Amino acid sequence: MSQGQGQVLASYGRHYLVELDTGSTLICYTRGKRNDVAVGDQVTVTVSNASQGVIEAIQPRASLLYRSDAFRTKLFAANVSQLWIVIATEPHFSPELVQRAILAAQAAAIPCAIILNKIDLPARLRATREQLQEQGIPALQIPVYEISAHDAKATQEHLLPKLYGQTTMLMGQSGMGKSSLLNALIPDAQSRTQAISTALHSGRHTTTFTQLYRLANFRLIDSPGFQAFGLAHLDDEARLAAFSEFHAHIAHCRFYNCTHHDEPGCGVRAAVTQGEINAARYALYRQLTAEYQSAIQQRQGW
Ligand code: GDP
Ligand code: ZN
Repeated sequence: MSQGQGQVLASYGRHYLVELDTGSTLICYTRGKRNDVAVGDQVTVTVSNASQGVIEAIQPRASLLYRSDAFRTKLFAANVSQLWIVIATEPHFSPELVQRAILAAQAAAIPCAIILNKIDLPARLRATREQLQEQGIPALQIPVYEISAHDAKATQEHLLPKLYGQTTMLMGQSGMGKSSLLNALIPDAQSRTQAISTALHSGRHTTTFTQLYRLANFRLIDSPGFQAFGLAHLDDEARLAAFSEFHAHIAHCRFYNCTHHDEPGCGVRAAVTQGEINAARYALYRQLTAEYQSAIQQRQGW
């Protein structure tokens, strides 16, 4: 038995598909009850045979994103270096989901960008741009790349250079054109997915799964649907750190331990009133504080 280095491409239950740096792929298991392996993790593997291995160690992560299901927060993807949020001129996108995705990236110190798709359907182009303004997204220095995924060549020319050297995670509500974008950027994406699905599910019914594509010049992680990012792990300090545009205003709060909710003389609230902090972002801040408090109460069995 030999050891090798590789990266987790996908997981299914407690099976992980790992691509070794030699190019071969193995179905891997973990020892004991270990379940802290995420797609994108760089791992050391003991090679059991030509198709199987055991994950022995996870290399330190450059970043870590979480996702939440109904009650728990789980690992989502590791080593993502940028998050691309796919929206479209139509159908309407959910500003709340986009704001949450942006915040998850900020909390993980990952830059993000908005991919505005279907600009060949221009009826709602202006309205969509205005909506992004309203959400304060350009003011957060988040770039908006306008594309039409149906024009694969133009999409490649515009976006491929921004992928090089990066591990990019693609997120999008269904219908926004994420699959079309993926196929434009990785023409053999479907056959790669089929190969992974076959290897992981060994003939069982296929479901969609988070998947990492390793290409010569970049890595791309595609995730099905638009699973809510897990934000419940953000305590007061981590949450405030993620809302970096609040920081300049905190100096004006009357109380040193101001939580920026209902205290009098709050510099953050004053900035919201004056339009210097985006109202949607501030609403999200309040919402996340409430979610964190109720998560703690649940954990403590109140
Ligand atoms: P997903 O659910 O986000 O993966 O979206 P799909 O890629 O399946 O696209 C949803 C629908 O939008 C499909 O009918 C696509 O043909 C259409 N679509 C995707 N990209 C474009 C685009 O750039 N322009 C137009 N007009 N339609 C698009
Ligand atoms: Zn305050």
